[in-house]
Amino acid sequence: MKNIQPIVENDNCTQCGTCFAVCPVDAIQMKYSDRRGLIPDVNQKVCTNCKKCLRVCPGEELDLNALTRQVFGKLPQNPLYGVYRKVYTGYSTNKQIRYNGASGGLVTTILYELLKDKDIDGAMVVKMSQDRPLEPDIFIARSLDDLISAQQSKYLPVPMNVGLREIMKDTNGRYAVVGLPCHFHGLRLMERLNNKLKDRIVLRIGLFCGFNPTMASTKFLLRRAGVKDFSTVKEIKYRDGDWPCGFRAYLKDGTDRFLYPIKHFLFSHYLFERQRCAMCMDHLCELADMSLGDEWRADLKSSAAGWSFLMTRTKVADQFVEKLVRKSSVYLEEISPDIIASGQAATMIYKKRGTKAFAKIRSLMGKKVPNYLRNSKYQPKLRYYIGAALVYFIPALFEKDFFSRMFIWVPTNIYNKYRNAILRFFRE
Ligand SMILES: Cc1cc2nc3c(=O)[nH]c(=O)nc-3n(C[C@H](O)[C@H](O)[C@H](O)COP(=O)(O)OP(=O)(O)OC[C@H]3O[C@@H](n4cnc5c(N)ncnc54)[C@H](O)[C@@H]3O)c2cc1C
Ligand code: SF4
Ligand code: SF4
Repeated sequence: MKNIQPIVENDNCTQCGTCFAVCPVDAIQMKYSDRRGLIPDVNQKVCTNCKKCLRVCPGEELDLNALTRQVFGKLPQNPLYGVYRKVYTGYSTNKQIRYNGASGGLVTTILYELLKDKDIDGAMVVKMSQDRPLEPDIFIARSLDDLISAQQSKYLPVPMNVGLREIMKDTNGRYAVVGLPCHFHGLRLMERLNNKLKDRIVLRIGLFCGFNPTMASTKFLLRRAGVKDFSTVKEIKYRDGDWPCGFRAYLKDGTDRFLYPIKHFLFSHYLFERQRCAMCMDHLCELADMSLGDEWRADLKSSAAGWSFLMTRTKVADQFVEKLVRKSSVYLEEISPDIIASGQAATMIYKKRGTKAFAKIRSLMGKKVPNYLRNSKYQPKLRYYIGAALVYFIPALFEKDFFSRMFIWVPTNIYNKYRNAILRFFRE
């Protein structure tokens, strides 16, 4: 049978969930594995060989330029940013939503206003599961409470596009979807296959994504926070408390463990980077209608609530944003995209160039890499290879449970030095 199973086995699956949503005979289930989280598994006896899953899968075959042309009718002037119309910094004027957000609460405010104005019937979002606190729960939010329950970034694999199945079932509804770049790669491939889906989705809200770590990262953080028995965990919040937030585990006995502020856990992304993320070239969610990210500038840090970056990419996004500004639901200042690059340059360069060095190392290790890296003629600089080698080998060690336990005690400043060392290889 020709289906996505080899892509999963080659470790080239982004865990976007699109194959699950497209399969017409339910041959694909998202199975939970301790190591990889929710990952597709094909029942070969049920698979009819229709190959639809392969046509929507961004794991090994992805042409970002072709999809960019499909969506915008042109290629970007600056490939670092993707096609964009306007760039802002700002926040939600709803204090509760802003404080509870990962950064400025803009994503949730935009969704809430769309719901209130009946521009949408629901929004595809993700919260942490109540029954299984270490797993994500993707659902369609239909109220403010739903939206608030889904706030903050979830730093673990989230197969967001499984939620598209519910959207496709509703033949009249209109929806907004939130996702990471890889979710939108799958979504845009699926829209190519299914025009009706395109009509169902009114707005695609993308998040910037450096990369998303493996399941082992969450367990490592729990152990560092002093949680030995994961069954005692009631709820996890990756971006809790005063901005810039921290990782908090709420326990069933009513106490909590808090790694605060963010510098006490962000390094773990670099210890537990997923190999597929290390080959992902899209940082700013280039195929979304609008993309949002964390505004880290030091001079804004006086407040306990955060700020967000917002890039509009389509006319529809501009129209929604203008409406929200008129209603004073958001506060926005227009800025140059170079301000985003000034704070995230190393990751942006890693994505566009370092990924190629990583892919070469991965090929040398006998593993398959996605087509856009396999066919690329670009020759990375030597220092990109050194940085990429760290990204390849260190997470491979930390993936081993005994190894990550052995280094649980290492002080935060040492881990942050390691993180900064990697980033330095990719600064221009
Ligand atoms: C894995 C990951 C990596 C990121 N990397 C960067 C980065 O490198 N640079 C940067 O500037 N910003 C990054 N962000 C984005 C940033 O952390 C915020 O999500 C963004 O600024 C929006 O904040 P907000 O306050 O407006 O959103 P909120 O109001 O808090 O809403 C967050 C929304 O994001 C959705 N969401 C949360 N986690 C996920 C997930 N894993 N997959 C899909 N949807 C999700 C929720 O459903 C919710 O609707 C990343 C986010 C994630 C999840
Ligand atoms: S469609 Fe997404 S979840 Fe399915 S195999 Fe491909 S990358 Fe993985
Ligand atoms: S780095 Fe790319 S592949 Fe990994 S979670 Fe982010 S968008 Fe998806």
